[in-house]
Formats: sequence, structure tokens, C-alpha cells
Amino acid sequence: MKTDVQIAQEAKMVPITEVADYLGIDEHELEPYGRYKAKVSLDVLDRLEDRPDGKLILVTAINPTPAGEGKTTINVGLSMGLNKIGKKTVTALREPSLGPVFGIKGGAAGGGYAQVVPMEDINLHFTGDFHAITSAHNLLAAMLDNHIHQGNNLQIDPKRIVWKRVLDTNDRALRNVIIGLGGRMDGFVRQSGFDITVASEIMAILCLATSLSDLKKRLSRMVIAYNHAGQAVTAGDLEATGAMALLLKDAIMPNLVQTIENTPAFIHGGPFANIAHGCNSVMATKISLKLADYVVTEAGFGADLGAEKFFNIKCRDAELKPDAAVIVATIRALKMNGGVAKSDLGYENLSALEVGIVNLERHIENIHKFGVPSVVAINKFPTDTDAEIALLKEKCAAQGVEVVLAEVFTKGGEGAVELASKVVQICETTLANYAPLYDVEGSIEEKITKIATEIYRAERVEFTSVAKKQISQLSTLGYDKLAICMAKTQYSFSDNPTLLGAPTGFTLTVREVKVSAGAGFIVALTGDIMTMPGLPKIPAANGMDITESGEIIGLS
Ligand code: ADP
Ligand code: MG
Repeated sequence: MKTDVQIAQEAKMVPITEVADYLGIDEHELEPYGRYKAKVSLDVLDRLEDRPDGKLILVTAINPTPAGEGKTTINVGLSMGLNKIGKKTVTALREPSLGPVFGIKGGAAGGGYAQVVPMEDINLHFTGDFHAITSAHNLLAAMLDNHIHQGNNLQIDPKRIVWKRVLDTNDRALRNVIIGLGGRMDGFVRQSGFDITVASEIMAILCLATSLSDLKKRLSRMVIAYNHAGQAVTAGDLEATGAMALLLKDAIMPNLVQTIENTPAFIHGGPFANIAHGCNSVMATKISLKLADYVVTEAGFGADLGAEKFFNIKCRDAELKPDAAVIVATIRALKMNGGVAKSDLGYENLSALEVGIVNLERHIENIHKFGVPSVVAINKFPTDTDAEIALLKEKCAAQGVEVVLAEVFTKGGEGAVELASKVVQICETTLANYAPLYDVEGSIEEKITKIATEIYRAERVEFTSVAKKQISQLSTLGYDKLAICMAKTQYSFSDNPTLLGAPTGFTLTVREVKVSAGAGFIVALTGDIMTMPGLPKIPAANGMDITESGEIIGLS
């Protein structure tokens, strides 16, 4: 089979103006970035205010293997399948980060015959949104250090600065740095560090904001440090909000592209799925819902993190009403959950598959706790055997859940016609009754415990003494009535990445608690969560190249 980039380069793209026409976007609402990309103005939302929303379909998954399970691929394939059966559909996805593109993943624009294009642009600099976020973030960092250097009117405690710098690269060497070395005019010496851009709170804010004014309010609320009296110092206190908003003026407009079958796709924003909520922007989702009958959107990692945050953070905050969820499962990830080593996933193993299915079953139960109907999509890999597929179908049928085989990687939209029909049937016959799992008015401990026991099925939750102290401080400062953003390993329901399947009887340890006041959530950290990833021993970057004739090698 051809490589992803070969397939993408052979796609017959239509000019982006045609995609916009098809969606009914006015000419003055479209800002083309070349022939195949465009930004779409938020004016669309005002113009179409009275139009009813289309159906919102979430694509989520079982606990993944390190390579990803094909949520993006299925998301793109399903939207093409829906288009094939006559439903006007938009795909809404996150923008890939350069970290994973050059690190372990090699790209994040789908795969095989289910990709968004131009994939090389989407995977690389795209329309510059990440640059804008990086710039806004680092401007604030520079203003903060300068404020201290210039006399520190705000009485910022240099030992309690929480705002780091960001870069969109996996670079472990920047995790901890000393800044301000040199002479008197070179700034204040202190220890700091870098996070990856997608971990910036500004990224989360861009993805939750509903307008420019909402964006500004959120930017202004961001806590960047504490003063000597222990009070929060915000970006607003530093008078940095306007300049940051200015840097973000284009980045807030959703990016319009297309799938390789010309289905419209909005790709906008890309918050981390651990310390942030892992979904594309609310603005892109809302515009898509006004323009299409069906909107298919992805949430990062497995459903224990991605779907939980999509429902409890994004949908609650933006007042979205999801109509159905597609739970992506792969035979190889289920086998891994059944104890098979990564290197052996290519071999048939029916007994491991049978053991690993408990992972899928628990995710199905969890989705139903939010009142949203679901269907399981098996993302078919070349290594799956007929016997394995038959076993999985049989097991799910016994659970009373519909399972559909999706072959979008090899067949594109044609491979998702059955899945698309099933999704339409669910939307037309089952009334979703979405509700978040917890009330934000509860205490921080109560909300975390609810997620840990109901979604992860932890026996108990332990808060370290550091976490307890932070919870009490945040509560005193009035930051407790917010949603919770759990930062946990994506590989397990628990906080131990090696506990696969459907573990029970474990204790979830909350090590640290932080506020993202602009995004509007409390981040609860469990286990070791990396906010500046490193590159693997052999980075995907090693296999990348571009030839004189423009042929691109190594993106996937
Ligand atoms: P996720 O969104 O869950 O992280 P992706 O859709 O990005 O996963 O897919 C992860 C990787 O697996 C990509 O490189 C993609 O091309 C590949 N992939 C996805 N589905 C298939 C499939 N059915 N067969 C082979 N490779 C696949
Ligand atoms: Mg993905």
C-alpha cells in the first residue's frame, strides 16, 4: 500500500472557495491562505444564530497503545462515509503539534485513505496558529520577568512564578532552565522551564473561548504567579491581555480544509489531552454545527480522559449537546490490554483479545453515564485476523452493543458507509440525554473523587499532603467552583500505565493540583505527567525528507 503522504499528495483537492461555497460561507467570511486552506470569520455565528444546530458526534476510543488507535482516521473516514450517504457533514479536529509529528507519531492528519489535506501543511506550520500562541505565551513570560526587573510593583514572589515559557518541539533539555544569568541588566536569576506549546493555558483558552471578548476575559484571568501575601497575580494585573489578544487575532478564526474526498474539515486548536481538555476549538465546533447536518469531532486519548473531558469540560462550558459517540477499538490495542507485548501485536491471539475486551466494555458503560448513545467502530488493521474480528463482534453482541467494522484506512468513505448509517440511525431513533457527571459547585476533592470512582473505578483516592495544601489554598482564593481536568496516563484507567484492561481495587494518587483560571478548570495531576515531552531514541524526524521536485517523505 502507498504511504500516507503519497495518498495525500495524489488526492484531487478542490479550491477552498468551493468547499466554502458548498457550506454556504459568504465570500467576506472567508480568508484564504493559498488555494487549499482558509480561515473562517466568527461572523458566521452571528449570521446563522437562528439556524438549528446539526448533530454532534464524538469520536472516542478504548485505552490506546503508544501509536494511537486511529480516532482521527475513523473521524475523517466517518465524515466521508456520512457524506456518501447524503448527509452534509463536517469533520472537526485538532491541529497537530510538531512535537509528536517529529517525535513518535509522524503526523496527525488521519491515515491511509482517510486523511485531511493538504496533510503536509496541516502537520507542519499550517496557518501559523501555534506560532501565534507561542508568541502570546512568551510575550507574557517576558513581561513578567521584566516587571520584576523593573522594580516589581506587584510584589511578585519570584519563588512562586507558575508561568513558564513554551516551544512547539519535543525538547527534554528545556524542561528545567536557569534564566537571567549575566550582569545586572540581564534580568533576575531564577529557575524556570519550557512546556510544549499545546500545554500552554493559552491553547486551552483559545479552544474554549466563544468570541474575541470571551478570549480576552479568559486571558486576563490566567494566574501567572503569587505575590508575597499569597494572592494570585494574573495576566490582567500585568496589563498583558490586549497585546496577547492582538497576537491571537487571526488564530481565533477556525481553519477550513478538506478530506481527500473533499468533505469540509475544520482543524483548529490543539490542547494537550492530559493537563488540558484535548478537543478542537469550541468556535470551530459551533460554526460546524451551524453549517452542517452532522459534525464529527475527536477527543484525545481514550474515553476515560478524552470523552470525560469533552462531556464535563467542553460540552458543559460551551452548552453543546452531543447526540452520539463512536468508540473506536482496535484488535491490537485490545490484545495489548489483554497482556500482549507491543512487539507481538501482529500475531493472532484470541485468548488475549478475550481478556482485553473488558477495557472496551468499561468505556461503553462510562459513555452511557453521560446519557449519550454509542456504537463501537472496529478500526481494521492489516494484521487483524478473521477469527479475531469474529470473536470481537460476538463478545460485543453479547453485551448488547452494536459493533461495526470500519475499513476507512484502506477504502476511505466507502469503508465507513455501514458505520455512517448506524450513526444516522442512532441519531434519528435515540434521543440523547446528555448531562455532565458532576456539579461544578462541589468541592475539588468531591469532583475528583467522582471522576476517579465512577469513570476510572478506583477504590479510593489519596491526596498527597502537597495536593491537600494546594486544594485548601485554591479554595481560599475562590478557585474551587471550576470543572476538573484530570492529568493521568492514557494507557490505563488507573494512574499506573502498566495496569491494563479494567483494573479494580486500586488507589488513585493525586500528587498536585493547579488552577487554569482562564481555561476555567482545576488540573489534578496523577502519576508522572510530562508537559515537555522528549524525543524517542529514533525520532520520526530521522526518516523525513523533501526532494528537489517537492516530494515529501516520512510524514504519516
Ligand atoms: P489517534 O487519533 O487515535 O491518535 P490516528 O488516527 O492518528 O490515531 O492513527 C494513528 C496511526 O495509525 C496513524 O499513523 C495512522 O495512519 C495509523 N492507522 C490508523 N488506522 C489504521 C489502520 N486501520 N491500518 C493501518 N494503520 C492505521
Ligand atoms: Mg488523533
